[in-house]
Amino acid sequence: MIHSPFLLSRTRLEDFLTCQRRFALTLGLPHRLAWPPAPLAEQMEEDLARGQAFHQLLERYFLGLPVTPELVEDEQVRRWWGAFRRSGLQLPAGRPLPELRLTVPVGGHLLHGRFDLLVLGSENNQPTAHLFDWKTGKARREADLRQDWQTRLYLAMLAEGGQALTANGRVILPQHISLTYWYASQPESPRIIHYNIAWHAQNWAEIVALVARIEAAHALDEWPLTEDLSHCRTCSYQSYCGRQQAGQAPPAPLEEQEADEADWLLEPDHL
Ligand code: SF4
Repeated sequence: MIHSPFLLSRTRLEDFLTCQRRFALTLGLPHRLAWPPAPLAEQMEEDLARGQAFHQLLERYFLGLPVTPELVEDEQVRRWWGAFRRSGLQLPAGRPLPELRLTVPVGGHLLHGRFDLLVLGSENNQPTAHLFDWKTGKARREADLRQDWQTRLYLAMLAEGGQALTANGRVILPQHISLTYWYASQPESPRIIHYNIAWHAQNWAEIVALVARIEAAHALDEWPLTEDLSHCRTCSYQSYCGRQQAGQAPPAPLEEQEADEADWLLEPDHL
């Protein structure tokens, strides 16, 4: 079967692992379904807007543009900005690239990520890549973050596709890649995660296997509903799937990145 490659973000990989039917419905398989996303609670809308405003301040800052936090109406955003400036977060030497998107081919499909900030540098004549991710939600432990699909996907994408970003097309070795999560609630305690060769070998093999499972499901056009009804409680497809017996629960808070992804996830074509 000939078909367009899927654009696979962290959110989509998590969807497939949570509920294959949700993954398919989000992609409009087997036919496009006009189905509105569940409305966000008012508080969640506000949190998302604040997070996006904070990210925009940082983007301007790292682009070298004037930043005028005093013109930001929201007091919380101004506090986060103050915490960031006082935190003394040290950036490595190199070229800062805020809000960078990268796609990397895998198994006939494309992995997709948007980085809050990537600093490309060089050490001992080897290209280096330091990712930074700004978080305004609840702080998480480093051990949990290492298992998170955002961490796994972003690190793997740089190791496999980072050469597209280096001036001379040189591969960025896993041991020269890191990801720092900076939390506005704990500005003095960034979580710094260093990648390495052994982790990448295992991580990439699991990503390739996961994409192969997606491809196999697509070939059969079989997208089973999850057996864990707790996932249906926050899912916008609940009535479509006839899973009303699962009940309702407030959706988990979205991080800013997921909110940004939602824009293109709702686009009419998956590529
Ligand atoms: S309602 Fe449940 S079964 Fe249907 S797509 Fe959502 S999570 Fe999957």
